[in-house]
Amino acid sequence: MRNAGAEQNTSACTRAHPFRVERVHREDRVIALAGNPNVGKSTVFNALTGLKQHTGNWAGKTVSNAQGYCTFRGKGYVLVDLPGCYSILAHSAEEEIARDFLCFGGADAAVVVCDATALERNLNLVLQVLELQPRTVVCVNLMDEAHKRGIYVDADVLQAQLGVPVVTTSARSRRGLDRLMAAVAQTAESPTPVPPEIPYPEAVEAAVQALLPLLEDHPANIPTRWLALRWIDGDASIRQSIASHFLKNEEDREQAEAVLRTLDQPELADAIVTAIVGRAETIKEAAVRSGAEKSDARDRRLDRLFTGKWTGFPIMLFFLLGIFWLTMVGANYPSAWLSAGLFAAGEWLRSGLALFKLPLWAIQLLVDGAWKTLAWVVSVMLPPMAIFFPLFTLLEDLGYLPRVAFNLDRCFRKCGACGKQALTMCMGFGCNAAGVVGARIMDSPRERLIAILTNSCVPCNGRFPMLIALITVFFAAGGMTGSAVQAVYLTGFLLLGVGVTLLLSFVLSKTVLQGIPSAFTLELPPYRRPEIGKVLVRSVLDRTLFVLGRAVLSALPTGIVIWLLANIRPGGVSVLMHCAGFLEPFAVLMGLDGVILLAFLLGLPANEIVMPIALMAYLSTGSLTELTDITALGDVLRVQGWTWVTALCTVLFSLFHWPCATTLMTIRKETGSLKWTVLSALLPTVCGVLLCMAVNAAVSLFGY
Ligand code: GDP
Repeated sequence: MRNAGAEQNTSACTRAHPFRVERVHREDRVIALAGNPNVGKSTVFNALTGLKQHTGNWAGKTVSNAQGYCTFRGKGYVLVDLPGCYSILAHSAEEEIARDFLCFGGADAAVVVCDATALERNLNLVLQVLELQPRTVVCVNLMDEAHKRGIYVDADVLQAQLGVPVVTTSARSRRGLDRLMAAVAQTAESPTPVPPEIPYPEAVEAAVQALLPLLEDHPANIPTRWLALRWIDGDASIRQSIASHFLKNEEDREQAEAVLRTLDQPELADAIVTAIVGRAETIKEAAVRSGAEKSDARDRRLDRLFTGKWTGFPIMLFFLLGIFWLTMVGANYPSAWLSAGLFAAGEWLRSGLALFKLPLWAIQLLVDGAWKTLAWVVSVMLPPMAIFFPLFTLLEDLGYLPRVAFNLDRCFRKCGACGKQALTMCMGFGCNAAGVVGARIMDSPRERLIAILTNSCVPCNGRFPMLIALITVFFAAGGMTGSAVQAVYLTGFLLLGVGVTLLLSFVLSKTVLQGIPSAFTLELPPYRRPEIGKVLVRSVLDRTLFVLGRAVLSALPTGIVIWLLANIRPGGVSVLMHCAGFLEPFAVLMGLDGVILLAFLLGLPANEIVMPIALMAYLSTGSLTELTDITALGDVLRVQGWTWVTALCTVLFSLFHWPCATTLMTIRKETGSLKWTVLSALLPTVCGVLLCMAVNAAVSLFGY
């Protein structure tokens, strides 16, 4: 049996994704979890390991391996969640990662999670995995959905046909998972089973027989028949890997090449795929009975509505407006309560600190510097996030996001990019770094780069609070109608972000990243009823508190540093104002002031802290206004000379400027290039600067 060190061998594959399996005990078993996208693999993984791998109703979320640990009947298991893929014949990055791990990851067994409502398509992958890893358990998930749709899966027939254990589950309600683990435990310990071979056409079998003697006796635990088949149908890179690692000498290599020369390779590759598809169809015919497919008809009706030529875009806009309106209306009151409470607590803190006889400057540093910044961040950020994220996650769980990608596909393709970019853009609303990593779902490196370079043009959740605050203060007051107007503004700014994303994608695809957009088939998953409880927990714990925690952690020290900078006054003028003064002439050209431009620069660690930094700077420079809630925010800013033009330019610059430090580091990691990282910062920044200057010049010209 191979061990965790075997992953070093991944260099043998076409594109290496080294992945280190971490066992807790030496005798732990390693289980690879494979499956088509969106079949509940992450749900199974999370339920078994207690981890929180992101789940959501769309294909392509898991783009790299994740691992978790569980114990069953006293034994330890390391579960490795592979990216969702339809095949392991490696046409895409996900397929390659999954194939590499199954080949070299040292798994003791595999579980292939299948969708009971689309078994035939899933069986293609099962059959391919069985050829590579016969110690496999087939987990037929989503049985509750199948039941609702009148689809009956006979697990016994399936098991007899496949020759490996088959377990039916409903992972979302944890049904069947104990049986699954029992089958996994047994498979990992038993001798390797011999599932029935897929019958290939005679010419393929003859070539395989000729190749088998050349490939036998290799040290890796990869079935020789599988290697022979890949020699026949693989691309040049996989053949080169096989030649250098599994063909012993020059003579064998020559013979294998000779076998290849006698074949019509593309035709045989097709024949192999056809045989697998045919076998999957036969097994499905034997094991599955379908009743009336009512929900399919319902899904098709919904799709006609959500992706229709005349209805798709208006409904998208309606959802966007609706989400923002609910966020604005709902956030007003809790924001006011939170800020009243936290600012009152600040005064208690001041009195409390005075009791300890702390010097005045230290009390001011802690209360006016650290505490007030923190209070502002919490009261302004928490309520909208706690409403926006669950609503967004509900749409994601429902299966609506792929429909958005489908609607936007034509726009992206016209711009020389790929429709999948719409999905990475949606991820960018949550966090740009996540959007950048998400771009791995694109196969073409050119399109992946376009998606990465333009991702920060949509505002991440760190930027939303500032947008919301400025819109509320300068463009539309609160109340029901006010909130509706705010939602319209926010939607407008967001659409501008999407527009600039498309424009930049177009420019990139016509200049440094020229090429033809790849055709892609986007799988539209079935609509699923979201689990409200889980959505709430996931969006509040995973997203809201994560973002808030990050903001608080960076706001606290920044608050202190800014307070110090604002209160150390060489020559009677604070260091902060020296810096702001230096930036002022340029900032004024952009319709901003030196302080806000400085805040953007100092806010590099996290976008969440830009506004708090600016406020700290303003408040510590002698303004008498106390910041207590969002209306007081308006007073602070107006006293500093802000007009609606300043607010508009700040919003625009917030939309289009360099990505935060985390995103930049992620881009560096994903592209492996400093050049692309610098370009990803320059592109939106240049757009932002030009846009702000244009708006400012236009306003001055027309004398508003
Ligand atoms: P993955 O792409 O294969 O990792 O799929 P996920 O685990 O992210 O699940 C995709 C969607 O299917 C999510 O909305 C899950 O909540 C849902 N899901 C997963 N398992 C089940 C199940 O057994 N029944 C139902 N009804 N939904 C499920």
